[in-house]
Amino acid sequence: MKFYVLTIFPELIDNIMNESIMGRAREKGLIDLKVLNIRDYTNDKHLKTDDYCYGGGMGMLMTPQPIFDTYKAVLSDLNNKDIGDITDSDVIDLDNESIIRPHLIYTSPKGRVFTQEVVKELARCNDEDKAIAILCGHYEGIDERIIELLKPDEISIGDYVLTGGELPSCIMMDAIARLIPGVLNKEESHMDESFENNTLEYPQYTRPEEFMGLRVPEVLLSGDHKTVDDWRREQSLIKTKEVRPDLLDK
Ligand code: SAM
Repeated sequence: MKFYVLTIFPELIDNIMNESIMGRAREKGLIDLKVLNIRDYTNDKHLKTDDYCYGGGMGMLMTPQPIFDTYKAVLSDLNNKDIGDITDSDVIDLDNESIIRPHLIYTSPKGRVFTQEVVKELARCNDEDKAIAILCGHYEGIDERIIELLKPDEISIGDYVLTGGELPSCIMMDAIARLIPGVLNKEESHMDESFENNTLEYPQYTRPEEFMGLRVPEVLLSGDHKTVDDWRREQSLIKTKEVRPDLLDK
């Protein structure tokens, strides 16, 4: 799975994506992640990537030029061309099929909500050999003309506002990459997990059998797989009904 992240805080992405299962997947070459620093592409002599908002308001907004040119660098990499050979019209003519494009996501609280259904949909990019590029906003967000020109898939990780799109981008890559064959090993399989079959996962226990006076449910010690499966299914429905009855409606 090929990912690009466009950000003004590249270290944040690398720090998270070099650890644990994602780090292992990168080492194994199952994830090819390129992090592009938007600041490297600004034409501003002070290396600025943000400015005041027209119409007033307190915050700063990310300016369009550095983002546009960073996206050009993504196209240059995907198309094996020098960045100077990618024209502005190559970037904005989205119907030009001679240019290989990634599935471009803009992390935004104004986007559609990131659910396991969306994760599965995005993981299909891997089957289609399509890269995913994730644009991270910061400050008050980005100039609207980037959205008009590049028509990204705007995705929100939930109904709250963060300071930047870096954590959302890592959340998205983590959730998508888990579905790529080979990223999880057998013990870490995702088949039984929450949101599969629109239910939440059943309670899980490990050693010891008794902790602070609480025993592992006897059924899990029985060795009878059918009874264990039935118990898990029942517990999963009880939990879902209690916390997320909306999932059962699906
Ligand atoms: N002014 C924007 C608004 O009210 O919709 C919020 C901007 S937020 C402070 C800065 C950036 O963080 C956004 O451009 C976006 O990239 C990212 N961000 C914040 N909350 C997010 C969320 N729930 N999901 C995805 N990205 C988010």
